[in-house]
Amino acid sequence: MATGEFALIDELRRGLGQVEDDAAVIVGIGDDAAVLDCGGRRLVACTDTLVAGRHFFAELGADDLAWKALAVNLSDLAAMGAEPRWALLNLALPAGMATPAWRADFMRGWQELALPFNLRLVGGDTVACDGPLTVTVTALGLLAGDALLRSGAQVGDDLYVTGTLGDVALALELAFAERAGEAVEDLPGAATLEQCRRRPTPRVAFGQAAQRLGARCAQDVSDGFLADLHHILQASGVGARIDGDAIPLSPVLAGWVGDDWQRLLRTALTGGDDYELILAAPPALAVQLQTAAQQTQTPLQRVGSVLPAAAGLQLFWQGRRQDLPEHLGHQHVI
Ligand code: ADP
Ligand code: MG
Repeated sequence: MATGEFALIDELRRGLGQVEDDAAVIVGIGDDAAVLDCGGRRLVACTDTLVAGRHFFAELGADDLAWKALAVNLSDLAAMGAEPRWALLNLALPAGMATPAWRADFMRGWQELALPFNLRLVGGDTVACDGPLTVTVTALGLLAGDALLRSGAQVGDDLYVTGTLGDVALALELAFAERAGEAVEDLPGAATLEQCRRRPTPRVAFGQAAQRLGARCAQDVSDGFLADLHHILQASGVGARIDGDAIPLSPVLAGWVGDDWQRLLRTALTGGDDYELILAAPPALAVQLQTAAQQTQTPLQRVGSVLPAAAGLQLFWQGRRQDLPEHLGHQHVI
């Protein structure tokens, strides 16, 4: 019988009978990455898989695929405040896929993201497969001090979002409409949406800066803003008030959304694949965080505040409280 992604993860977590007394596991299953104490140094580890036809269109260039497979992992390291250092790469390749041109493109896309971080590929696995092209990256980083945790939000904290939300969801909506042969609106700036989809920018430098400043809570937006915010609220045992009008939108998305709540809901609020950070931090850090954002060329927007759990998740937009859907974002059915 099919089950939900999170139910299966929970079953694995509980079902293996692992007693939670391994002092080296500072953060285990349930956050953006694991944090492991290695004799005083903290190793941060995460892994993510992209499957052709499911997580990317099969015709995506190998350079963009390599970038994205690494970027989604660096985004999880950023959400912990870690410094990326090493990666492992697993390739499951259908016959005929890895032509010399494909390989050269893949390496170029990988290096374009990895080089500025001095990130080294230290291993992986390469297999032939009958199924779709599948790329798994495991990223490893180092952390000095405490990680940014999903459980770190406290009542009274400000909530922030980096960059803009919803661009990838709109890019996908347009791409699917085009594929279905529907008339697609000619949106000025649509090319920038496409760029966000193919090459997300992991907020590594800002995540590290926020961690150094003493912020305690972050998570990256992969399943959709509301779903990922919900993870923070659950893990922290708090509620939140979100100012929907403050949600950062690119000019092209803002123009497309206009006054249409449903359009805002299905792109910026629940779309996913943004790889921006949601951050919770005490108001005393506000000025320093904005300075860090400027220094790391990271747009940073305050979008709300953390409330006691009883308040639930409240979202105000255009002067009134909006009803939120029961399912706040994306979850894979397994
Ligand atoms: P993210 O979106 O940040 O990559 P996920 O939603 O994929 O996080 O995963 C949530 C948590 O569950 C993470 O801590 C992840 O490491 C863990 N997890 C996911 N799949 C598995 C699995 N098959 N076995 C063990 N842990 C898993
Ligand atoms: Mg994550």
